[in-house]
Amino acid sequence: MTATNMEDLVSLCKRRGFIFPSNDIYGGMKGLYDFGPMGVELKINLKNSWWKSIVYERDDVEGLDSTILTSPLVLQHSGHEDTFSDPLIDCRTCKARFRADQLEKSECPRGGLLDKCKSKDLTEARPFNLMFKTAIGPVDDGSSFAYLRPETAQQIFVNFKNITDSTSRTPPFGIAQIGKAFRNEITPRNFIFRVREFEQMELEFFVKPGTDEEWHKYWLDKRLQWWSDQGVNSQKIKLLEVEKEELSHYSKATFDIMYEFPHGLEELEGVANRTDFDLGSHTKNQDDFKISSKVKENKDSTTKLVIQDLETKEWFIPFVIEPSAGVERGVLAILNEAYTVEEENNRTVLKLKSHLSPIKAAVIPLKRNNQDLVNLANKVKSELQSLGLGRVMIENSGNIGKNYRRHDEIGTPMCITVDFESLENQSVTVRDRDTMKQERISLSEISSYYSSYFKN
Ligand code: ATP
Repeated sequence: MTATNMEDLVSLCKRRGFIFPSNDIYGGMKGLYDFGPMGVELKINLKNSWWKSIVYERDDVEGLDSTILTSPLVLQHSGHEDTFSDPLIDCRTCKARFRADQLEKSECPRGGLLDKCKSKDLTEARPFNLMFKTAIGPVDDGSSFAYLRPETAQQIFVNFKNITDSTSRTPPFGIAQIGKAFRNEITPRNFIFRVREFEQMELEFFVKPGTDEEWHKYWLDKRLQWWSDQGVNSQKIKLLEVEKEELSHYSKATFDIMYEFPHGLEELEGVANRTDFDLGSHTKNQDDFKISSKVKENKDSTTKLVIQDLETKEWFIPFVIEPSAGVERGVLAILNEAYTVEEENNRTVLKLKSHLSPIKAAVIPLKRNNQDLVNLANKVKSELQSLGLGRVMIENSGNIGKNYRRHDEIGTPMCITVDFESLENQSVTVRDRDTMKQERISLSEISSYYSSYFKN
């Protein structure tokens, strides 16, 4: 049986050190979560898997790590200052705020769904900009400020020339970035699904105009395959083509990859055809180039964001295909898929894909603080750790049943027990998380056994 509700996941995440409410001991802050010892490893593994498939396994993508603090000029010319908003409605009776497009799902702070509240007295909807601002420099008089970026994409566009100059890339090629993004969501909710601080994994893939639709389809297929490789059941994925009137200001077409989260079908990743809007908006000398999208005049940019077509010698502004995924939503989908209750075995087990497991192997001395067993266990741990496949840990609590239960719940693929026989014949017992089968492996073979398990 897999997880059927969010409470199961929230409880496991807290109990086993995946995710905690942020600023917890001071009452917490809405829409903010911290990733604990297991959560941080899961996140790192998910991000590494994305980076591997998007950058290392290809030859046409470069990486970037840009700043979070962003100049207002960037977000003015990207269109975010004018349009990055959600419709906000206030209730005059209880002073609560709601998103106008989510009223039917909204909870009244007095309890129950808003629709059922008799005393609701709502204002008209008005746009509420979702960007966070912060003062720059020692004087906070509003004259010098930066935004906390609401997406990682804009800094990719702004670095376009730096990257093409330093790498000699020409389309088709991409720039990938993983990092924090911030949105002052009106109603953060559903655990880590909608939060105010989160991470995005974004690829901006630059192509020649006219080849954009083909590349859009290509990236959509690639991304669906990747989610399946992370253990997300394709049966729970639905593709939604965003309707023309709901498209973002920059988009010609967008597919939302929707997933059946415990709270309902919602967006996991967006794959958009952003046309030449972004580079066209941020380039100088806009009139010198054919820009197909509607861009506003830019008198601030110091740089032309163009590429020369090597055959025609004409300078052009590439189109952009953007797969943009949220790390937190990915973690939530993956935990939901992996969460398994086996009543027959009286256990809860996270059947994570092994490359995502926070702990790759737990090495357990059978008897707590027995120096010979602990020394040998430490030796096994160091040997496996040095292979660089992820975190290996020692469990020196002496309670093997408890250790198995804990490692089942955090998704550790193998538990390696060092017992008294190990001291005599240099072998250990390896227990498999999913089958619970145990086998005896010689210490001379443990490294190759472990490596081949994780490399397969
Ligand atoms: P939504 O419609 O759910 O608000 P969006 O269309 O605004 O999402 P995008 O701007 O396309 O989202 O951002 C790309 C990805 O970033 C989303 O698919 C999602 O995975 C993630 N994301 C966006 N907003 C949040 C948030 N508030 N909390 C967590 N992840 C988010």
